[in-house]
Amino acid sequence: MSEERPVYQVRPPEQPQAFCVERVRADFPILQQQVNGHPLVYLDNAATTQKPECVIQALVDYYRRDNSNVHRGAHALSDRATAAFEEARSKVARLLNAEDARQILWTRGTTESINLVAASWGRSSLQPGDRILVSAMEHHSNIVPWQMVAAERGATVEPIPVDRSGTLDMTALAAMLDGRVRMVAVGHVSNALGSINPVDRIVALAHAAGALVLVDGAQAVAHWSVDVQALGCDFYAFSAHKLFGPTGIGVLYGRRELLEAMPPYQGGGEMIESVSFAGTTYNQLPYKFEAGTPDIAGAIGLGAAVDYLNRLDRAGAARHEEALLARSVALAERVPGLELVGTAAHKASVLSFNLAGVHPADLGTLLDQQGIAVRTGNHCAQPIMEQFGIPGTVRASFSFYNTFDDVDRLFAALEKARQFLQ
Ligand code: PMP
Repeated sequence: MSEERPVYQVRPPEQPQAFCVERVRADFPILQQQVNGHPLVYLDNAATTQKPECVIQALVDYYRRDNSNVHRGAHALSDRATAAFEEARSKVARLLNAEDARQILWTRGTTESINLVAASWGRSSLQPGDRILVSAMEHHSNIVPWQMVAAERGATVEPIPVDRSGTLDMTALAAMLDGRVRMVAVGHVSNALGSINPVDRIVALAHAAGALVLVDGAQAVAHWSVDVQALGCDFYAFSAHKLFGPTGIGVLYGRRELLEAMPPYQGGGEMIESVSFAGTTYNQLPYKFEAGTPDIAGAIGLGAAVDYLNRLDRAGAARHEEALLARSVALAERVPGLELVGTAAHKASVLSFNLAGVHPADLGTLLDQQGIAVRTGNHCAQPIMEQFGIPGTVRASFSFYNTFDDVDRLFAALEKARQFLQ
């Protein structure tokens, strides 16, 4: 029978091998290419991460062998698809150390996860005069959904101050927390600056003041193992595509009693227990929040990405990323006219910067011509760019598959661009 089982269900337990960047790079086929006549240096990992071969293969295997709708139980393919789909949910639950897989909801990504909480919890809980706090360096997707529900409910959305280094002002947060604050929504890691927020301390303060905490984990999950129980947060959101998985799928973790109490987000198939014109009853968790045919292949692909991470020496990978960041900061300090944007003491491997007198977009184009992929612009974080008085930055964001040579090539290309532009 075993040959009938899809490969993503029959992984033998493997011991993580000590981290080796060259071995890891070989797992990512996209990295082995030339761009504009140069070997690709991919430094746009905060926008999306690349996919290891096993994730690509899991998607192909699913569509070649098991493609079928889930939870119908009508035939063998449906049973296989359902088993793999629900196994992926359990893998994510274990990855986040969630109490129960039913607390893992599939969404389209971080954006939809936050919209789900804002719409479902926000519409049913917020009262006029209630306050929602977000950090001043949030991604738009952790600002706008709150503004939308706040406008509907007569609540307000206020920024928690962030200083020039990109560090959240915890004293200001403590002072802002009063009985009217119902939700504190913060990024675990800022995508624009790389700052790591002290989520456990934020949770302690917010809970002591009676507020809930939603953590936007989009930029954290790829860098270290997140433990939602240790953090104590009420909601945790992330996107699979930033965790070496497919686009189009993401996760919302929520505390059980909150999810139980929240009304459905969308109506349709899957999310109901029974439907009649006399009245409809809703399904249990997690299906209550999963209307319609889900992204089955996406969930399975994310499950394969989790398997991949479990086989990786994550502590070694994290040390490697820290070393990449340290080297890039050291080299950046030697570039005349280069200003780092985001210099918090605790940072993920994100280097945001500007060159005096140069528009970030021009720099991005010149780097691209040399095979170097970075992101330029405001990084969907206009409020913090406005606070800093800049239109945007150039952002190089590293993953564990980047090398010291990638860092050196970035700075060699920057030097060339600088001489051309200045
Ligand atoms: N929050 C943060 C911190 C992000 O970096 C991103 C993606 N740039 C998002 C939210 C939105 O993620 P997605 O577009 O995958 O929903």
